[in-house]
Amino acid sequence: MRYLSFSGQPIFDRRNRFKGYRGVARDVSAETRAATLADLEHVVARVLTEADGVEDGLRRVLQGMCESQQWSAGTFWGVDEQRDVLRHVVDWSATEGGRRSLLVAGDRLPGWLMGGPVWIGDVVREPGTQRLERAAGPGWNTALMVPVKSGPATIGVLEFYASRLAAPEPQFLGVLRVASVEIGHFYQRAVAVEKMRESEERFSSTMELAAIGIVHVEDSGRFIYVNPQVCEMLGYTEQELLSMTVKGISHPGDVNVTDDARAKLRARAIKSFKMEKRYLRKDGTPVWVGLTIASKFDRNGNFQYDISVVEDISARKGAEERIQYLATHDGLTGLPNRVMFGQILGLAIETARRYDRKLAVLFIDLDRFKIVNDTLGHEAGDVLLRETAARLRECVRASDVVARLGGDEFVVLLQEIGEQTQAATVARNILSAVMKPLVILGQECRVTASIGICMHPSEGQDDQAVMKHADMAMYVAKEEGKNTFEFFSDRLKPQSVERLSLEANLRRALELDEFTLHYQAKVNFKTGAITGVEALLRWQNPELGSVSPARFIPLAEETGLIVPIGKWVLRTACRQSVAWLAQGLPPVNMSVNLSMRQLNDEGLLREIQAVLVETGMDPSLLELEVTESTIMHNATRAVQVLTAIKTLGVKLAIDDFGTGYSSLAHLKRFPVDTLKVDRSFIRDVPNDKEDKAIAEAIIAMGKTLSLTVVAEGVETPEQQQFLSERFCDEMQGYYFSTPVAAQDFAELLRSHDPKPLL
Ligand code: C2E
Ligand code: MG
Ligand code: MG
Repeated sequence: MRYLSFSGQPIFDRRNRFKGYRGVARDVSAETRAATLADLEHVVARVLTEADGVEDGLRRVLQGMCESQQWSAGTFWGVDEQRDVLRHVVDWSATEGGRRSLLVAGDRLPGWLMGGPVWIGDVVREPGTQRLERAAGPGWNTALMVPVKSGPATIGVLEFYASRLAAPEPQFLGVLRVASVEIGHFYQRAVAVEKMRESEERFSSTMELAAIGIVHVEDSGRFIYVNPQVCEMLGYTEQELLSMTVKGISHPGDVNVTDDARAKLRARAIKSFKMEKRYLRKDGTPVWVGLTIASKFDRNGNFQYDISVVEDISARKGAEERIQYLATHDGLTGLPNRVMFGQILGLAIETARRYDRKLAVLFIDLDRFKIVNDTLGHEAGDVLLRETAARLRECVRASDVVARLGGDEFVVLLQEIGEQTQAATVARNILSAVMKPLVILGQECRVTASIGICMHPSEGQDDQAVMKHADMAMYVAKEEGKNTFEFFSDRLKPQSVERLSLEANLRRALELDEFTLHYQAKVNFKTGAITGVEALLRWQNPELGSVSPARFIPLAEETGLIVPIGKWVLRTACRQSVAWLAQGLPPVNMSVNLSMRQLNDEGLLREIQAVLVETGMDPSLLELEVTESTIMHNATRAVQVLTAIKTLGVKLAIDDFGTGYSSLAHLKRFPVDTLKVDRSFIRDVPNDKEDKAIAEAIIAMGKTLSLTVVAEGVETPEQQQFLSERFCDEMQGYYFSTPVAAQDFAELLRSHDPKPLL
């Protein structure tokens, strides 16, 4: 292509008709090209300064270059700096939708583009290009590719198309090179700016999206950045918070808790710290937050601001407080429980000692609570207990403590009390408050209370003594006829103190899980096999140590406690028996002792039945032992009850036989299977003639009645031999085995090798 410049004059004939021009034509191609080159340079420089972002700038460059050079379309390709892969950035076309390209996004930058601009006269015919299909388009067959460089690296490619394009001249290529350098600078800068903006956006959207609050706090304590989560957590707007300080939103109790750690951060003694504290929401409610705080310093090491990550931990704190509350309070009444009362009393006694003050503890037990509970139901019982709690609170000062120890037992601590008379006044008030009638489920009921009082320090030196003595005084009040109060000192004589202490402890033994069962084997003389085992109750009390059944069984009988305790023994023994069978041990009879009180209990039969069902115990393996004296106490009733028990398939034994003066005639009436000869007759055989005679007689008598005769308390080989010779069936005693714990008996049973006993 050539540019020509013409100048000439028109020529006319004689009749003035236009004939043509006369003049000269000049080839101005060089000038024209120079001008468009200058234009090209100019366009690139101008367009890039006006650019608004990468894409806009590059599109304008493409457009400017195309328009200046009359090209049809252009594309800018970016080159991925890590992998040399092409990325389509932007294109421009003179015609709507016109686009064509030899290059493909995702491909590697072709090697032939590394050197410099590449001109392809006809992409359709060009033998080196393989992308002809793709390149075939609306007649723009000439392509010009210009690599865009930054230093030695190619960071982009300009790709242009035109219908017809002469091969570029060196000057043009020179201009292109310059332009491409400029474009390269622009592109790199723009990409960097864009990346920064992106990362900032990513950062801020991360901060805003985080489920966690983030704040920046400057030296003065003022917030300089808060994310939406913190705003939501605290109920303030961003503007409000930005005008506030950390201390301004801190709970009054926690204002200074982070001071020390923040100072260490400033001193760069630590990198970060964690802390839990309370803030106050805008509405004044506290919120527990977990903070992680670090400081930001500039390059010169100057402190800039603290960055705090703020986590709402109210839910967790709430749960912790709830657990703490539940562990120390009674769920029903909301009063402190036994555990907490113990702590409070301990502290109160310490304080009382320090300031030489007195205090009083009142033990309160409702007198007819069980009746209400049994007749009106548990819910009614609960209502009564809650009401009692409220009434007790009303009877004392705010500084006094009311607690519920469990069941219908309450306790009151009167602090800074003057004299006994003051405690007596409070006790009297409590008695009359408790006595006021109460309507539950439409039913008016009235209960009374018995109160035991112990003064500190005069009647109890430490918390344990104070509690125990108040408890004992309460039992005296009960014995006095209930609905009254009693001081520890007045009436309690030493022996009744002992008994009351035993009784007070026995009452709680079941609840506190202080009972266990030991098991003593019974062996058959003929086979030497273990045929049965007797369950014997053991009581281990932290205060009293291990208490012998001989001491506590009579007391349990007297107080009626033997009924619930006996139920526990029966259930535990049956469970154990089933468990041994499940462990593959041979079946043996399980003997359980029944007391007189149990035998007279209306619910006994039902209870035995329930335990058998509940534990899956085989009734024929269960044997109940009743002492001879128990049976003789009310023989008529005993016959009835024992007969009923027999119908369950359970065996019966007469325990401690020989001590109850029963005759053979009597014995016949009882549906028993076993006779246990009392230890006292065995003790002195074979030396004591009289005992020998009695033992012999008892064995013979049992045999006549076809009963299994068991000798109790066999301690020596001589005793064993004597009994064996008298055809006694079985024996039980220390000589073969003492009562032992369940696992020890299981071991004995497993390892026992039966041999006939002499
Ligand atoms: P028991 O029913 O006549 O039980 C036998 C007692 O003799 C057990 O005393 C046992 O340890 C003891 N003993 C066994 N072999 C010998 C021996 O060779 N020498 C001596 N000296 N003693 C031996 P433990 O366990 O102290 O029980 C005493 C009594 O307490 C029992 O007499 C029984 O009447 C009563 N008892 C024990 N557990 C229960 C129970 O769960 N319920 C009831 N109602 N009474 C029970
Ligand atoms: Mg027994
Ligand atoms: Mg016995």
